[in-house]
Amino acid sequence: SGESVAKTVWRLDVANEEETAALARELATLLRAGDLVALAGDLGAGKTTFARALIRTLLEDPTLEAPSPTFTLMQTYEGAGARVVHADFYRLESAAELAGVGWEEAVEDAIVLAEWAERAREAFSGDRLEVRLSFAEADDRARRLTVSGYGAFAARLAAFKALYEFL
Ligand code: ADP
Ligand code: MG
Repeated sequence: SGESVAKTVWRLDVANEEETAALARELATLLRAGDLVALAGDLGAGKTTFARALIRTLLEDPTLEAPSPTFTLMQTYEGAGARVVHADFYRLESAAELAGVGWEEAVEDAIVLAEWAERAREAFSGDRLEVRLSFAEADDRARRLTVSGYGAFAARLAAFKALYEFL
């Protein structure tokens, strides 16, 4: 069910953490209030690293700390005209916990970045950008990034990819 939704998939390989951050900074230009970005991948793959670079760009603060929200479930940032919610559902036990932390109010008019979004699937099945980071065999600093745009993000990601590959 739900698989009739439009989808664009873009795969690219990065050599190190700086290249991951650079891609996050580029993708930041695609995002606006109300958008949802699901960050997927195993522990240590680089989800938080990617989110931190995105947050720093959106908040226009290159030294912002942006720690992992594993224990707080979510962290809200505001600045430079942007509102960003960074969530990590690794420890989420049930969707009811989301209500407990005021999720609905927090994400209103925010750009939402969610690690382990698959653990709260009902909240993340609609239009969204998904960035999956996978370890590469070659080198422990290399990663494969699979960026998927679902629904309204399919066309936006396709346009972005075409521009990125052209430049
Ligand atoms: P996750 O949130 O997926 O568990 P983190 O971002 O917290 O992962 O940790 C990723 C770790 O891997 C960091 O220590 C980071 O420095 C390191 N790293 C090495 N190469 C890369 C890369 N290409 N992209 C992202 N992180 C990388
Ligand atoms: Mg993390």
